[in-house]
Amino acid sequence: MEQDIRRKTVATILTDGDSSVGKTVDVKGWVRTRRGNKNVQFVALNDGSTINNLQIVFDLSKFSEEQLKPITTGSSIHVQGILVKSQGQGQSVEVQAQDLEIYGTAPNDYPLQKKGHTLEFLREKAHLRPRTNTFGAVLRIRHALAFAIHKFFNDKGFVYFHTPLITASDCEGAGAQFQVTTLPLNDLPKDEEGNIDYSEDFFGKLASLTVSGQLEGELGATALGLIYTFGPTFRAENSNTPRHLSEFWMVEPEMAFYEIADNMDLAEEFIKYCISYALENCMDDIRFLNDHFDKELISRLEFVIKNDFVRLPYTEGVKILEECGKKFEFPVYWGVDLASEHERFLVEEHFKKPVILTDYPKEIKAFYMKLNDDGKTVRAMDVLFPKIGEIIGGSQREENFEKLSNRIEELGLTGMDWYMDTRKYGTVPHSGFGLGFERLVLFVTGMQNIRDVIPFPRYPKNCEY
Ligand code: ATP
Ligand code: MN
Repeated sequence: MEQDIRRKTVATILTDGDSSVGKTVDVKGWVRTRRGNKNVQFVALNDGSTINNLQIVFDLSKFSEEQLKPITTGSSIHVQGILVKSQGQGQSVEVQAQDLEIYGTAPNDYPLQKKGHTLEFLREKAHLRPRTNTFGAVLRIRHALAFAIHKFFNDKGFVYFHTPLITASDCEGAGAQFQVTTLPLNDLPKDEEGNIDYSEDFFGKLASLTVSGQLEGELGATALGLIYTFGPTFRAENSNTPRHLSEFWMVEPEMAFYEIADNMDLAEEFIKYCISYALENCMDDIRFLNDHFDKELISRLEFVIKNDFVRLPYTEGVKILEECGKKFEFPVYWGVDLASEHERFLVEEHFKKPVILTDYPKEIKAFYMKLNDDGKTVRAMDVLFPKIGEIIGGSQREENFEKLSNRIEELGLTGMDWYMDTRKYGTVPHSGFGLGFERLVLFVTGMQNIRDVIPFPRYPKNCEY
């Protein structure tokens, strides 16, 4: 091998295309397939940089059968050769191999031999599935969306504010928490009344993994103005659904001086930006998913970008559901926490558009949401999406010290003094929302199951790798 030639990714080579024809290139990657005859062998090489393979042509007058024998599906190789215009169909350029180095063979028990493994099978092989076309596509799109999120907020002057993953505030109310402890579980220290004595625990009190960075995010917003968090959150709910994970990533912007309408505008602009970014930057991957899994994916994404989201008060939404004549599994009435079937009816059958549902009954929403003048509803906003249901949950926050402390007392929450200080000193109207990152990835990839849009999914009874 020549030492002074630098490796190029397959993505770069295919993008450069004709302009590099005639040059020597150096490529490294994993073999997808090898086929051919006694005179010539064709290897489809993939290095993860793109869904497209680079075709490597081995002339058997230069290479022996013996040399090529280790090149099987899954093996890893290094090739130098001349980039030439391709004779065959399906690619514009290919590499005429001159030098070959085998990095690693892949014995014939390599699990990803065939194309077209089911997603269920691949979930059992989650440690290897990033090497498939499908997961390569999903993971590149996931990356692009994460990048788009940072770019969107950075361009608007938001500060990326890091909220803690370990927290001692147990009143976020967003879901069951995982406890963090170093206490010996089979010999717990007890106080006089027989309760566990957390003063002996690592943090000197009961601590958990966060279910949301919002409360701490509000501290950031009431100092820096515009902030967002983007990090892992943990929920110990036994929800075995295709839309819930025990560990997922959440994006939570929090904005001082934003009222509920500003909050809705931002949420809508934000989602549309992320989808557009993916369409502009990941078309090869999106097209692959469109062609193989979901023929309506691209048109659905374009539709969402082009159309205004419906904005509808909860009370009117419930009326539509009550009067639609459809038989739901769960009953609908004013005050009920809508189930996914209700949300999806509004979005997919009634409006056929994303819907932002607002002004929910205060009983089914978190304590910090701003009370409306009717005394019954709060300034909540859930963004509901086709196929997904709730993708964003947000609200204008109660900024009035009295009202908020009354609500906290009503609900019997304690240990909130630090949070109340945002209302005690220089309180301002403010709003924010939480976007479940994997739900966005689900929507943009058209995948059906949230376990297929994160590399290593965590869900009840599953913690592999
Ligand atoms: P749901 O009703 O769908 O369980 P939620 O109302 O409990 O969600 P929020 O507390 O409002 O969720 O969290 C904000 C966002 O985080 C949701 O809109 C959703 O996109 C996402 N999310 C919530 N729970 C999960 C989960 N277990 N796995 C993945 N994403 C989640
Ligand atoms: Mn919610």
